[in-house]
Amino acid sequence: MKIALVTGGSRGIGKAVSLKLASDGLHVIINYRSNDVEATKTLEIIKENGGSGELLKFDVANRGEVRTVIDGWKAANPEKFIEVLVNNAGIRKDNLLMSMDDSEWDSVINTNLNSFYSVTSSVIKEMMYNKSGRIVNIASLSGIKGLPGQTNYSASKAGMIGATKALAQEVGRRGMTVNVVAPGFIHTEMIEGINESDFRKLIPLGRFGKPEEVANVVSFLVSDSASYITGEVISVNGGLYT
Ligand code: NDP
Repeated sequence: MKIALVTGGSRGIGKAVSLKLASDGLHVIINYRSNDVEATKTLEIIKENGGSGELLKFDVANRGEVRTVIDGWKAANPEKFIEVLVNNAGIRKDNLLMSMDDSEWDSVINTNLNSFYSVTSSVIKEMMYNKSGRIVNIASLSGIKGLPGQTNYSASKAGMIGATKALAQEVGRRGMTVNVVAPGFIHTEMIEGINESDFRKLIPLGRFGKPEEVANVVSFLVSDSASYITGEVISVNGGLYT
């Protein structure tokens, strides 16, 4: 059974990815930061549906904690390795740059971008050694287009896209792929307060997306069907012009 680690896998898009990968037959390690109740619920759904999974709580923005917890998992599972990594955990703290405070900038860059480095570098050696690995990074339309009020968030997601393209070239010869999925507006708690009707006219498909519509693309990218796709950015945004 292949093992997948989904950061922020307890709620929203990450939850849909965890459920989908478990239904695809992977053992899913659900990472989350604080909400034990939602994480436990997600794991219960996986088990009720006959899937396999476990919880692994750590703050992706805290490099020391990432390394300690993942090293602990490796020590407890010496025969296994994480073959699929979905870097999904993310936050937004929107503000105009002129009004932004240091913590708004730093927390978004740490959680969305520095986490890519901390988590990926913690699992990549085993993928390279085993010559098998799939990494999918969840970026955003905001990282492609740039959105006003989101200099911190756009920078973090654009950084993730650049890192993906570089890493894809580093590890391709090891049979590994690294890709980005860039969602537009997807119904989760993260976009609570954003009015769908204000944006409908801008979206050719006329609606916000569902977490499952992002999860289906992640599932494809980590499957054997996507074996010749790497360094790509796939938008899941209902046709919203990027
Ligand atoms: P949600 O806020 O619904 O869920 C966030 C998830 O990430 C939760 O499981 C949360 O765990 C976890 N998380 C947050 N911070 C950390 C952390 N420091 N360490 C570990 N886990 C953490 O977000 P979405 O599902 O909407 O977003 C998922 C990803 O998709 C993000 O990267 C986001 O930027 C991206 N995205 C979302 C879009 C949207 O419209 N929703 C659009 C474009 C991109 P806990 O509950 O324990 O805090």
